[in-house]
Amino acid sequence: MMIDTHAHLYDERLAPDVQEIADNMSTDDISQIIIIGCDRQSSESALALAEKFKDFYCSVGVHPHDAVHAKQDDYQYFESVANNNKLVAIGEIGLDYHYNFSPQAIQRRVLEQQIELAASLKLPIIIHLREAYDDMKAILFQNQHYLRHGLVLHCYSGSIEFARECLKLDSVYFSFGGSITFKNTDRESVVKSLPLDRLLLETDCPYMTPVPYRGKTNYPKYIKLVAQKLSEWLPNIDISELTSNNAHALFKRLNQNNNQVL
Ligand SMILES: [Zn+2]
Ligand SMILES: [Zn+2]
Repeated sequence: MMIDTHAHLYDERLAPDVQEIADNMSTDDISQIIIIGCDRQSSESALALAEKFKDFYCSVGVHPHDAVHAKQDDYQYFESVANNNKLVAIGEIGLDYHYNFSPQAIQRRVLEQQIELAASLKLPIIIHLREAYDDMKAILFQNQHYLRHGLVLHCYSGSIEFARECLKLDSVYFSFGGSITFKNTDRESVVKSLPLDRLLLETDCPYMTPVPYRGKTNYPKYIKLVAQKLSEWLPNIDISELTSNNAHALFKRLNQNNNQVL
């Protein structure tokens, strides 16, 4: 069984199908799904879905696109729900200098505030990173003491060298989604360079739809196409088992709830 560590199931393209997605999880070979918040409203939606469905979990946080709208009140809300067993991480937070929907200085400030918040709540972090590698590296190393609960670079599109630098930090994971199935991707050499115990699977649905459904809405069930691609690159490895164990090592509350159920 696989774990989709990054899904936006509250998105209007997926919301009508949420019940069906939950009902079909075992058929789709998915054991757990983590629904990722991007701002106050989507974080509330992610938590509501996680509370409603047994195998759904969530994260809360402010995405770099929305950093300009982040308020102290949002952080207080995240803090107020942090003890919920279905909340496994702070995220997605990060830097996105491709779109620059928020000014870069504000993105950096909001990222650092949330890194500090995650540390105070003893939660891991889910990082979104695009075209901001130098600033991300500087922020991660300056805040190293806040990162003891681990982090994942989601939909990792950076270099082997950047990954190697990040591995000097405690418990850094790299998550891969539909984009590794695209033509002309350079992900194979990156994936092969990483320690096996740091690989995670995700869909980032409804975005990042893998081949052959590219251009259409993405769903958690397509995670098997991502796993298949990893299996091609890493033969003789049980990708489902490996990445699920890794997800449990990073997102500790996935285990906690697992043991309670059944
Ligand atoms: Zn992202
Ligand atoms: Zn996302």
